[in-house]
Amino acid sequence: MTTRQYEGKVITVCGPVDPAKLGQVLMHEHLHSDMCEEDPSNYGLPPAPKPTKENPYPLPFRTEEKPMSPARLQYLLDDAVPLLKQARTEHGMNAYCDVTMPPWRAWPDVYTKISKASGVQIVMATGFYREIELGRYWAKTPDLQIWPFVRKSSVEELADFCVREILEGVHGTNVHAGCIKLGTSQPAMTPTERKTFQAGARAWKQTGVHITTHCTLLGADTSQLTILDMEGVDLRRVVIGHVGWHLSDPSYRKSILSWMDRGANFMPTNLDVRKPENWRLLIEAIHQVFDAGHGDKLLFGMDHGYCTETGLFERVQFMPQPPWMYMFKDVLPVFRSLGLTAAEEKTIMVDNPRRILPVQST
Ligand SMILES: [Zn+2]
Repeated sequence: MTTRQYEGKVITVCGPVDPAKLGQVLMHEHLHSDMCEEDPSNYGLPPAPKPTKENPYPLPFRTEEKPMSPARLQYLLDDAVPLLKQARTEHGMNAYCDVTMPPWRAWPDVYTKISKASGVQIVMATGFYREIELGRYWAKTPDLQIWPFVRKSSVEELADFCVREILEGVHGTNVHAGCIKLGTSQPAMTPTERKTFQAGARAWKQTGVHITTHCTLLGADTSQLTILDMEGVDLRRVVIGHVGWHLSDPSYRKSILSWMDRGANFMPTNLDVRKPENWRLLIEAIHQVFDAGHGDKLLFGMDHGYCTETGLFERVQFMPQPPWMYMFKDVLPVFRSLGLTAAEEKTIMVDNPRRILPVQST
């Protein structure tokens, strides 16, 4: 099988979709990012102890994906579906990109059920999360820094994993991944992260889906793009994510514009607008990017959804509520009040995703 059958189409969890049908698109969300096993109470067993400061993660960490309990599926149907439906019917958000990577994703059938119940198309990611610095967050021991499968696999094995999830389906289902997620935090990659970027580049070459990244510190964008470029990736097919502060830093902007000259796309996320003034610099940066002729290389994501960061599986707590709708209810109106024009907004929310999400030959 090749991706030729998908050329020009967006690979969603319910099958290939015509990009003209996408509407407004959020490019970086998480329906289910759970690094821990489900609470036994979801299976009718005695519950795990509640998370505490001393023991924030009382449940074992996940090392592989498995089917979801009916109780958790019901929670997502009850909580997430109304929000997705509202975003679709009131704001024309007909699709979003779910960039959770294994082993924290939901089982594939969950995405199709949520998509069918809400009418929102979901583009699911394959790929690999970054290596967390030893001692930070939950990475108390080396085996928790990154998914063990990544540590022990070769570049070829990692690339094959992604290609299989895109071309054949995820976990033996006919649900296909439609993008490749990669990530680093520090300006210099670790050897394991380097392996994931080489693998992602090779998977791109064999499939033509876009690459989307987790990029935290200034400089990580350059190391990510440098290695993807060395591996022969067309940088127009790459979206560098979490770059609100990269763009808002006037002295750093030049570096981003020079990567845009080479085709790369950039995506601010985590748009918490409770202090609107904090976003003035980003809106100024967006105007500059448009003035430089690169408005076609900007995307937005919220990085919202459901996760276990607090120890409990619940709505993301580091963002104001609610998932998906916060973008339309609060962020875009604030951005407009700061000077983002209707034309700029449409380019970022509608036109750019429509161009980037479809499969393109490599
Ligand atoms: Zn994220």
